[in-house]
Amino acid sequence: MAERLMLICGPCSAESEEQVLETARELKNLVDPDYFRAGIWKPRTRPDSFEGVGEKGLAWMKRVQDELKVPVITEVANASHVERIAEYGFKAFWIGARTVANPFSVQEIAEAAKGYGFKVFVKNPTNPDIDLWCGAIERFQKLGFEDIVAVSRGFYPFAETKLRNLPCWEIPIELARRMPDLKIICDPSHIAGDTRYIAEIAQQAINLNMVGLMMESHCCPSNALSDRNQQLTPKELKSLMDGLKIKHSVIDDRNFEMELETLRSKIDVLDYQLIDILKQRFAITNEIGEIKKLRNVAVLQIDRWKKVLESRSEYAEEQGLSREMVATLFSEIHKESIKEQSE
Ligand code: PEP
Ligand code: MN
Repeated sequence: MAERLMLICGPCSAESEEQVLETARELKNLVDPDYFRAGIWKPRTRPDSFEGVGEKGLAWMKRVQDELKVPVITEVANASHVERIAEYGFKAFWIGARTVANPFSVQEIAEAAKGYGFKVFVKNPTNPDIDLWCGAIERFQKLGFEDIVAVSRGFYPFAETKLRNLPCWEIPIELARRMPDLKIICDPSHIAGDTRYIAEIAQQAINLNMVGLMMESHCCPSNALSDRNQQLTPKELKSLMDGLKIKHSVIDDRNFEMELETLRSKIDVLDYQLIDILKQRFAITNEIGEIKKLRNVAVLQIDRWKKVLESRSEYAEEQGLSREMVATLFSEIHKESIKEQSE
């Protein structure tokens, strides 16, 4: 059963004592978060951007924790950050997408943080490298950290998209497969990059059984010094949260289970049929490969490939399937055929 979602919210960056306290007060009243977040040291792509207020912001966060009784969390990127937040009574931190890509930094942070009892949130690296993400988590596990949460914050898109980062849901799904006991939450703010898309991404994360959300919220987003377009006001965050449909991971209902089992067994049959059909298809492409070899004809016939791709995608679309999905599938099949014909 999915219990209450874990909610971490607060501004991208701590900017002033008033901004931190006002945002935290509103959030406490409206959504009562599990953690209040704010970046103190901001890893920025360009050196002339706002790089965070630094240590003085920790005192503002401490006021939130002491006076409003909301636990606080921030990003750490080196051992000295860990020591600073420990002095200010933090019980949790996150490793950002840029830092997590550097195993030396992750190791340094893990060693510095050992023994304090911190809860550790590990964001995914910006490049879609699941091993790097797992590796960072393992560095903490190896040092005995027991409370680790992965944060799916999207991946660098490399091409123009409406989103700031691509969710690449298959990556957190694979992480859940590899580490079934790990808690995984989503950061829809950094995936969206724009408040208009946050709700749909948050809902998708819930549909995928993620157990919490990290959301950016600022008392006055238009004045924010970083990530202005993706920060919700606390009121907007509250109404977004109210609109989310919480899903159960499993339910105790015999009829439902039987219905699910029946449908799953149909899927099982179809999946094996798909594999049998693929086998037949590869047998034919290998035969084609043989006759190309005999006649000394090139393996890649680009016109034929264009026709295959176009006709299959079009047919898929007529059948109500995603054109892109079918094109990707056939590209993989074609790649394998070319490989086999070249052997
Ligand atoms: C952030 O949470 O403000 C942040 C910088 O996140 P990320 O490391 O995911 O970009
Ligand atoms: Mn941010």
